Amino acid sequence: MSREEAVKTMTGVMARFTDYAGKHLPDDILEKLRHLRETEDSPLAKVVYDSMFENLARAEELNRPCCQDTGVIQYYIKVGSEFPLLADVGAILTEAAYAATQTAPLRHNAVQIFEEKNTGTNTGERIPWIDWTIVPNGTSIEVEVYMAGGGCSLPGQGKTLMPAAGYEGIVQFVFDVMTSYGVNACPPLLVGIGIGGSIDVAANLSKRALFRPIGSRHAHPRGAEMELLLEKGLNAIGLGPQGMSGKNSVMGVHIESAARHPSTISVALSVGCWAHRRGTIRINEDMSYEILSHKGAAL
Ligand code: SF4
Repeated sequence: MSREEAVKTMTGVMARFTDYAGKHLPDDILEKLRHLRETEDSPLAKVVYDSMFENLARAEELNRPCCQDTGVIQYYIKVGSEFPLLADVGAILTEAAYAATQTAPLRHNAVQIFEEKNTGTNTGERIPWIDWTIVPNGTSIEVEVYMAGGGCSLPGQGKTLMPAAGYEGIVQFVFDVMTSYGVNACPPLLVGIGIGGSIDVAANLSKRALFRPIGSRHAHPRGAEMELLLEKGLNAIGLGPQGMSGKNSVMGVHIESAARHPSTISVALSVGCWAHRRGTIRINEDMSYEILSHKGAAL
């Protein structure tokens, strides 16, 4: 395959996968929503969960996005240093976002700063956002497609604490944000928390935490315990599906961490809503691909 053909092939695959990810939830989110529906006691909450599943079925049937807010398109990539299209990846993903906007179709969500004009293409200054991780000697690319809706982006906040605030300060921050804005984000929510030495690091980690499979745990036992305790505490608030009250508020809490400066603890929070449109695909150097997030998906 020539380079030109490979670029065309990868652009087509990523455009179709971006379109697909806007219409279908990943397997782990679906499984969690089913579990929350099965274990819910409140009759009203059960009806709301049922309406979510009906909404997903209609999106499938009509081949339409599963939420009207198709979000700002973001790609989090892990790309091998030997991947043959390394130099083309940025242009390919931008073209894919543009193409999926036409085919899906996706609502236009890219408003240029200072001009205050919607580009109408879901592309704009630094959008789609591409977050790069280079994998030394790797030959493939793994792409997380994420659609960041307005409601679920609203709780996104960060704060740098004095060290004396300790882990209690982190918990207070999380509960302050979630009790103020959580209801705006269409619960049940996936809560990503980043803890690190500076606010930019914490913010990035909080978003990456949303890409971990539901049910996975922080590698450190104390991190894993903190995730469980926060889940328990946030569920006790009882936001319920769409904030209509119920047994649960969250699908999960994921913490990602980085070492911090001795004088600061930065913490940031990102939220994924019930319609957590996240898709993972691996593309190999010969342009064959495997969809990791949606079993049996065909593009
Ligand atoms: S929070 Fe999620 S489900 Fe609710 S409107 Fe926004 S994108 Fe859609």
